[in-house]
Amino acid sequence: MHLKLSTEDEAFQREVQNFLETELTPEIRKNASIQASVRTDPETAGEWARILGRNGWLAYTWPKTMGGPGWDVVKRYIFESECALAGAPLLNSMGFRMIGPIIGKFGTQAQKDFYLPRIRMHEDSWCQGYSEPGAGSDLASLQMRATSDGDDYILNGTKIWTTGAHYANRCFCLVRTSSDGKKQEGISFVLIDMDTPGVTVQPIIMISGDHELNQVFFDDVRIPKTNRIGPENEGWTVAKYLLEFERGAIAYTPTLKAGLQNVQEIASIESSGTGERLIDMPGFEKRLRELEIKVMAAEYTEKRQMSALSTGQNPGAKSSIYKLMGSEIGQEITELRMEAVGHHALPFLPETRIPGNNTAFPGPDHAKTATAKYLNGRASTIYAGSSEVQRTILAKQVLKL
Ligand SMILES: Cc1cc2nc3c(=O)[nH]c(=O)nc-3n(C[C@H](O)[C@H](O)[C@H](O)COP(=O)(O)OP(=O)(O)OC[C@H]3O[C@@H](n4cnc5c(N)ncnc54)[C@H](O)[C@@H]3O)c2cc1C
Repeated sequence: MHLKLSTEDEAFQREVQNFLETELTPEIRKNASIQASVRTDPETAGEWARILGRNGWLAYTWPKTMGGPGWDVVKRYIFESECALAGAPLLNSMGFRMIGPIIGKFGTQAQKDFYLPRIRMHEDSWCQGYSEPGAGSDLASLQMRATSDGDDYILNGTKIWTTGAHYANRCFCLVRTSSDGKKQEGISFVLIDMDTPGVTVQPIIMISGDHELNQVFFDDVRIPKTNRIGPENEGWTVAKYLLEFERGAIAYTPTLKAGLQNVQEIASIESSGTGERLIDMPGFEKRLRELEIKVMAAEYTEKRQMSALSTGQNPGAKSSIYKLMGSEIGQEITELRMEAVGHHALPFLPETRIPGNNTAFPGPDHAKTATAKYLNGRASTIYAGSSEVQRTILAKQVLKL
């Protein structure tokens, strides 16, 4: 594993920087800067996704055989780092990062031909219908049924915590096609058009004031069986492959580094109660440096994983390490940011974070998102597998305890 970039990679880094300088307009950057969640608002993120798509860089993790740029892990890491440092919008990655690789691996030729080009250009916005009111960590307990009816399935049931279902036009979903055998054995993986009659989306507003989550109801929703990915009752194999990609193969540290840099900038502006700059207060600086060390440790762990991936290995159970480190350190950064802005963290005005809304925030701009990021960040140790579940995976599958 080489930690220094090669001449070729340095040239690629400059290419990405030049691209970001020309394409990432002040307007897009401004809208991205007021987001508090894992995604920028759908209009801004969608616009940025289409710009990347036109440049062939949206599905940047895909091999050339799937129409991607075929970058190795180093190039992907450079791309993610430069985008994070430049303040690029956070994309809805469920298309290119999740369902795209699934269709590439398990889809029929007709499914590949139809969906992959659309995902590469962000012509579709996807949501993930896995969790149900009684099936989260214990996902295999899901109850939403797909009943066979000739060439179609009739879907009945509900999905919850479905991020972006209110603007997605497609959903990949786990449904029960059989109740025989072990609960993992009767699950199938299907694709649903969100405008199919019988699909109803109900909003769930988060503690940060953001609308990202929904409950989706399916009442006698008819879909063709050609929308199934992989064989009937073998959806669990497909789902497990996807969960690996949800937890692993994502570089967390570029975002962590950008977050920490932002806290450092705030602490250089904000002053303590006694008039010194916050960053010069030994207590605050100690916490900042401790976090810097944690981020550095995460970065080297991530680079070790990159090295393994570059030899063709799948993320595997070790991807739980990155999910754990990324989400828990990320939460600590949001806590320190909130402390750094002090009393400016008090006003709770979610509307000031809506692009185009001209409600004034009663405080400096750098404080606008601190509280919302802190509140929204609580979710990161729950979604994509909670921290407790990740620790169990590591204990069992990596440490063999
Ligand atoms: C912001 C956000 C976005 C989400 N987006 C989506 C989405 O787009 N699509 C989707 O399908 N789902 C989504 N989810 C759902 C997410 O995957 C589930 O919330 C998660 O899997 C946990 O399930 P649960 O909420 O049912 O909690 P539960 O599984 O009921 O867990 C409750 C608590 O018990 C603990 N626990 C559960 N089982 C164990 C165990 N075996 N050992 C130790 N502790 C355990 C958990 O760690 C947790 O603390 C999202 C969730 C959030 C918060």
